[in-house]
Amino acid sequence: MSISSDIREYALSLGYDRVGFTTAERFTLLEQALSERPQMYSWAMDGSLQLLKSADPGNIMPGARSIVVTVYDYSKQSYPKALAGKIGRVYLAYGAGALHAVHRARHSLLREFLVKLGARVARGSISPPARLAGARAGVTDFGKNCFAFARDIGSFIVINTLVTDIDLQYDEPALEVGCPDKCTLCLDTCPTGALYQPLRMNPLRCVAYNSYATPGTVFGNVSDILSPEIREGMGSWVYGCDICQEVCPRNQPRLKARLPSNAYLEHIAGDFALDRLLNMSDEHFRGRVLPLLQYIGDRRYFQRNAAVALGNLRNEDAIPAITQAIQGPDALVRGHAAWALGKIGTGKARVILNRCLLREGSSFVRDEIRAALAR
Ligand code: SF4
Ligand code: SF4
Repeated sequence: MSISSDIREYALSLGYDRVGFTTAERFTLLEQALSERPQMYSWAMDGSLQLLKSADPGNIMPGARSIVVTVYDYSKQSYPKALAGKIGRVYLAYGAGALHAVHRARHSLLREFLVKLGARVARGSISPPARLAGARAGVTDFGKNCFAFARDIGSFIVINTLVTDIDLQYDEPALEVGCPDKCTLCLDTCPTGALYQPLRMNPLRCVAYNSYATPGTVFGNVSDILSPEIREGMGSWVYGCDICQEVCPRNQPRLKARLPSNAYLEHIAGDFALDRLLNMSDEHFRGRVLPLLQYIGDRRYFQRNAAVALGNLRNEDAIPAITQAIQGPDALVRGHAAWALGKIGTGKARVILNRCLLREGSSFVRDEIRAALAR
């Protein structure tokens, strides 16, 4: 057997669903995209993600020759209904305690296997562009929604890469779009217009990005206040967004299949009830939320998102929880809670807004209350 087949066989034995190999040539498609749309990606180029640098595997490891690309299918299980439309599946799959440890261990074991074969393997903080690497290694193709799709699986996958200095037997690239010609469902249903044409997505408008891009993180210099337009588009999502994958016909076989449930996620789903998130203590945030979802490091952003989600759901039963939030200590949360009450818009909600306006000390929150009352 060749070294490539040994690696493939070992990776599959670890639980990966697809394994492919590509060269360490530069990813010129990424370089082209970044030079055409720098305003959309400057946050990922300037910060620690170093997106432009990652387009050249030689920057990741001098002497790089090959990239081992693995695909893990996280749609083999179902996800709790209570979390549907709130938290993106990938974060549930990858953040969930023991599962996260298994994913990391699998990646480490494959790295060790390569090292035992005499290869050098990159160990830096940046990685090659996963979706482009997947396509070039023939394990995925593209969807018009910009996601990578693995044949017979769909797009609920995670692609990992290992850059190495050994030569391998490279797979046939699959750089094409695998969608039906006439399908535009993902573009039609994207709530913010982030998907503005096939294979073109503006991350700055994407619900997922806006849900967890907070000041002081790798996501750049963003405002802590969500714009009214983004709030409307967020629907009930508080962390991520799966809409353009959920509507996709290529994902329907998995979405409609009867799959085993994840007992751990079912057990903790109640911790993520929107009213619970909105008024959670720091203890709840650190003990229950942060172990699963790490991009948001400060609970006030989760509370902000929960307020927006409750407003978009327009559920009058949420008024007591939102009323508690609009009287809380944090102006960011109070301002978004005011927006939520304005969305619910009932007489009761308006009474609460008027009462809060009289004693509100923050000009930001007062403006939000006035805008909510003017709706
Ligand atoms: S994740 Fe949501 S907001 Fe982002 S592109 Fe897809 S549908 Fe649009
Ligand atoms: S919804 Fe249609 S166009 Fe969009 S990725 Fe899926 S198949 Fe392609």
